[in-house]
Formats: sequence, structure tokens, C-alpha cells
Amino acid sequence: MAVVETKGLTKVFKKGELGAVNDVNLTTQEGEFLVFLGPSGSGKTTLLRMIAGLETPTSGQILIGGQDVTHLSPRERRIAMVFQSYALYPHLTVYKNIAFPLKAQRVPKEQHKPKVEWAAGLLGIEKLLHRKPRELSGGERQRVALARAIVREPTVFLLDEPLSNLDAKLRTSAREELEQFHARVKTTTIYVTHDQVEAMALGDRVVVLHQGVVRQIGTPKEVYDDPADTFVATFLGSPAMNLIPQEKDIVGFRPEHLLPASLISPDQRVSMHFHFSHEEYLGAERILYGSLADKRFEAKDVISRLPSRVEASFAPGSIVEFAVPRNELKFFDRATEKRAAPRVVSWQ
Ligand code: ATP
Repeated sequence: MAVVETKGLTKVFKKGELGAVNDVNLTTQEGEFLVFLGPSGSGKTTLLRMIAGLETPTSGQILIGGQDVTHLSPRERRIAMVFQSYALYPHLTVYKNIAFPLKAQRVPKEQHKPKVEWAAGLLGIEKLLHRKPRELSGGERQRVALARAIVREPTVFLLDEPLSNLDAKLRTSAREELEQFHARVKTTTIYVTHDQVEAMALGDRVVVLHQGVVRQIGTPKEVYDDPADTFVATFLGSPAMNLIPQEKDIVGFRPEHLLPASLISPDQRVSMHFHFSHEEYLGAERILYGSLADKRFEAKDVISRLPSRVEASFAPGSIVEFAVPRNELKFFDRATEKRAAPRVVSWQ
């Protein structure tokens, strides 16, 4: 276990261009599961590759367990990395695949068996050791790749979208397994994904990146409930947070908080006229599309997310009284798009 720290970490691929990673300062906690989340091109992989030692920083420092490793080779950093396309050796058995890093590092042969069995045991693949990769399911191959990564007992685990090749159902179970695995080994883990559900489910904390800049670091609850700016507010949550530009600020509220007014007590709600357009029925919930029917809002599009147990029906084109609980309104500065102090809103 070790703490990973970056100080002013920056990577500029082409001089004069915007950096892929810009002045990133972060510190993991001991044994933490930290997730880098951001859209494609936000610098997640570049940041992870610098921590791994596969990419040279333009400036800044990386410390692992208090030691400056900025100029050390990947091997000297004692990290293990699993990529999106983890290639297993097809002609080797699972046992030999897992033992491969031990062999490469000239670990004495008599130590291989106990180490491979330990790693296989942690991932529940003891019974597969004699098989070849082609005789395994996608999820089992994934576990072999993880076992191969942990067999050297790394101090830090770096994972770059390791579940993205799995189908949706397998992805969910592999995610759960990864969670349980981390709970057992408690190795500091950094995990890259552009999937917010995965980030929220796995992360002790989430680092939200945009254009190589850290927008927010926080627990899943903090980044969802208390977004630092409009980028974080709209990147997390699906459908995205409704944002209503006002004179000086932007008022935001999540679709699940925009409800028929009768569901919120009068002294706690901010009401608005919802011009209903159409809806999608998703089983557990309904997504209602519409706009704010008030000239002040220039027919601003808004989305409501209604639990299906709320039995209300709306005619397309009708105008209905909807509301948001006052304490669920978020305010952002219109110029900087950063979180701003709450103020009193009355829209009716
Ligand atoms: P994705 O989710 O698509 O993998 P990412 O957030 O991991 O994206 P990076 O792969 O880190 O993003 O890329 C960040 C930026 O750096 C992108 O604009 C990318 O084009 C650029 N970039 C990455 N690698 C190189 C390289 N070797 N040479 C030049 N530019 C690069």
C-alpha cells in the first residue's frame, strides 16, 4: 500500500498547444480507490501513464509512498497496470499467464506456485489454472489479467478502463467483483473511466477532469450533490442537471427534483410552469420532456424524472404546475460557471 501524489503535473505534447494534463495536484489516501472521470480527451489516460512511468511529464513531480519517482522506470515504481486491451498470452495456460511477471522478474521458481495460487484465490479462478485463455469467458479473462497484475504484490494498482470490453451485464458483475477484490487487498488503486456510473459505484473519491484540468475531487456524493461548477454538474447525472441562466447567475436543479408541485410542501417549493411535450417510460421511472412556460425563461428546455409510482398523466402541450424543493437548487456564477452562494428564488 502506498500514497500516490502528483505536484504540478503537466504534459504538453506539442509546444504552444494546450496541455493534455495541466498542473494536476492530487494525493490519494492510503488504500483508496480513486477514479479519474472525464469525457474522451480529458487527459485521464495521459495522467495515469505519467504515474505509471510510461509517459514523461513536461513538468511536475510524482511521489509514491513519499519517494520521488518522477524519473524512475515503471518497474522501479512497483506499480501494476491493467489496460483496456489486456492481452493474455493465448498459447500459455492461465497459470503460466499469471506467473509470467514473476518469471520476467526472475523471482525464484519455487515461489511461483504459492504466489499464483494466492492471486488466483483472491479472484476466485483457482479452478481455471490449467485452461488456455480461449477456453474462458470475457469476465474470466478479465480476472486472469487482474491476477497477473497483482501477483507481484504491487504497492499501487493502475487500471485504465479495464471493463470496457465486457458487455453490459458482465460489466456490472465484474464491477462488483472488483469492488470486493479491492476491499480484500486494500491496495491503493487508480481507475480511469469515462463511465459515470462506474465511477460513482467504485470510487472512494472521484477526480473529475476536463481538458487536462481537475475540476473537482470528492466522494461520489460530493461531486453529485455539490458540484463545483457547471461542467461537473452536467457531466454527472443522466439526464443532466437542468441549468436556467438568469441575469447574474445560473440556477441548476436535477431532473429527479423537478416534480409535480403537489408532491412538495408549499413552504419548501419553488414552483414553475412546465410546458409538457412528451415522455419516455423506462420501467422504474418516466422521463418527462418540456420547457418552462414563462417568457422570462425563453421556453428553456427542462427534463423531469418521475418515479413510475407517481401516477400522473399529462397531455402533450399542456402546462402543468411543477416545482423543485428550494434546498435542491444550486447556483453558479454566470461568468465563471463556478458554484455561487444561494439566493432566494421566486418564479411564480
Ligand atoms: P479517452 O477517454 O478517449 O481515452 P482520455 O481522457 O484518456 O481520453 P488522453 O488519452 O489522456 O485522454 O488524451 C488527452 C489529450 O492528449 C487528447 O487531446 C489527445 O489527443 C492528446 N494525446 C494523447 N496522447 C498523445 C500523444 N502521444 N501525442 C499527442 N497527443 C496526444
